[in-house]
Amino acid sequence: MKCPFCGCEDSKVVDSRPVEEGNRIRRRRECITCLKRFTTYEIIESAPIMVIKKDNSRELFNRDKLLNGIMRSCEKRPVSLNEIENAVSEIEQQIENSLNREVTSTYIGELAMDKLKNLDEVAYVRFASVYRQFKDINTFMDELKKLLNEK
Ligand SMILES: [Zn+2]
Repeated sequence: MKCPFCGCEDSKVVDSRPVEEGNRIRRRRECITCLKRFTTYEIIESAPIMVIKKDNSRELFNRDKLLNGIMRSCEKRPVSLNEIENAVSEIEQQIENSLNREVTSTYIGELAMDKLKNLDEVAYVRFASVYRQFKDINTFMDELKKLLNEK
C-alpha cells in the first residue's frame, strides 16, 4: 500500500474495522517513512469453495442452501433466525479456516450437526435424518440413543 504523501511502499496498520454491509474493511495505516496516516478501503477476497458431493460431482459452496437446510430442520422449534444465521456464519468460518478450497458435503453436514446439537435436539435429529439418509428405523434409533446418552 503506497503512502499518498511520500510514495513509500511500507506502512503499518494501526486500526481495522469492517465497513457496514459488504465485505470491505477500512484500515488506518501509518507510513513507516514519513509517519503520516492515511485510510484505505480494502476488499476482502473470498476464494470460492467447492463442495464435493457424495457422487463425487462438485458444486460451489452455497451459503443459502446450507441456511435453508438448517432452517427447515428448525421449523416450529424455539430457534431464532439470528441463531441460525450465526450457526451458518460459524460453519462458513470453520470451512475458511480449514484452508481447503474443496470440502466434502459430508464435512459440512457434520459441522452443521455439531451446531444443531447445541441449538435444538429435535432440529438436530431432523437434520441428521435427512442428511445421513438413515437407511432404516434402527440406525435412526441408534442415533437418538447416542444423543440421549451424551446428556
Ligand atoms: Zn509516507
